Amino acid sequence: MDWNDLRSTPHRRWNPLLREWVLVSPHRTQRPWLGKVDKPAPVTTLEYDPECYLCPGNARAEAVRNPAYTETFVFDNDFPAMLPDVAASELEESGLIAARVERGICRVVCFSPRHDLTIPVMKQEEVRKVVEVWAKQHRELGDIPWVKHVQIFENRGILMGASNPHPHCQIWANEQVPNIPVRESAAMSKFLAAKGKCLLCEYLRLEIEDGERVVCENDGFVALVPYWAVWPFETMILSRRHLGSFTDLNETEEEGLADILRRLTIRYDNLFETAFPYSMGFHQEATDGEKHPEFHFHAHYLPPLLRSATVQKYMVGYELLAGPQRDITAEGAAARLRNLSERHYWDG
Ligand SMILES: [Zn+2]
Ligand SMILES: [Zn+2]
Ligand SMILES: [Zn+2]
Repeated sequence: MDWNDLRSTPHRRWNPLLREWVLVSPHRTQRPWLGKVDKPAPVTTLEYDPECYLCPGNARAEAVRNPAYTETFVFDNDFPAMLPDVAASELEESGLIAARVERGICRVVCFSPRHDLTIPVMKQEEVRKVVEVWAKQHRELGDIPWVKHVQIFENRGILMGASNPHPHCQIWANEQVPNIPVRESAAMSKFLAAKGKCLLCEYLRLEIEDGERVVCENDGFVALVPYWAVWPFETMILSRRHLGSFTDLNETEEEGLADILRRLTIRYDNLFETAFPYSMGFHQEATDGEKHPEFHFHAHYLPPLLRSATVQKYMVGYELLAGPQRDITAEGAAARLRNLSERHYWDG
């Protein structure tokens, strides 16, 4: 088998960050597709929604009202998944049944006072403001002595469980580094120890050389479909420079990140002419007081839509019980995204 055979032959791909295999089945996409053509999902057109708990001036929770904010707005989640003021405590039985109290801070960042805007339809300078808020929040939360990790993530669309279309993301800062960043950091440490190089610097070099999975790029960042992608149009954004977190970005890179976030998400919306749903988030070095030379700042976009505004991928059967699998290749997905316009379909 040579590299060309991979385009039509089922194969496994190694994910060096998660150290697991992804089963790719490109031959399955050659099956005829007889499903109906779906209409784009409706998008909100309200600039202000009196019922929205994120819009400026509205009541948010009992006895809490949002200020009349005009740019971005950050607040502590009124219904947080974790709490900062809980006493440390551990339970353990035979090394099998174990629990420990976890402190955390959960915040919400509204990207804009406008209820109907999202990253792909916001202006460059507006997205830049959001990037600045992420950097400020990362610094502020990461500086808290007991906070070891800051996770910034966005769920967009009802499919991803977003409860409100108002453009916003969440930040969860907590006492322990969560599973996936731990695994990625371990993989990057191992690679650094063995090869004397950063795993993602080296991976990015190979991807730029090849070019087939690159979606778009600028001076600071590259958006690409990772070789080991699982979700249909999964992408990663990688910084060209070896950065550990938001706090390492210079002004040009803040501008560059805003630019690539817009250009990538415009393509996503244009793909099926819908407000494309996804979960996305940034992976940054732990804020545990240690040095993390291995860690390379990046973002993941994990979108569930498969071939229209309503046909989505579910993780079921083999994937839940054995391992991930996909039908379209990373190269095919990258080509489709790359060839889309950078002008949002709303603009005609
Ligand atoms: Zn709103
Ligand atoms: Zn690097
Ligand atoms: Zn990651």
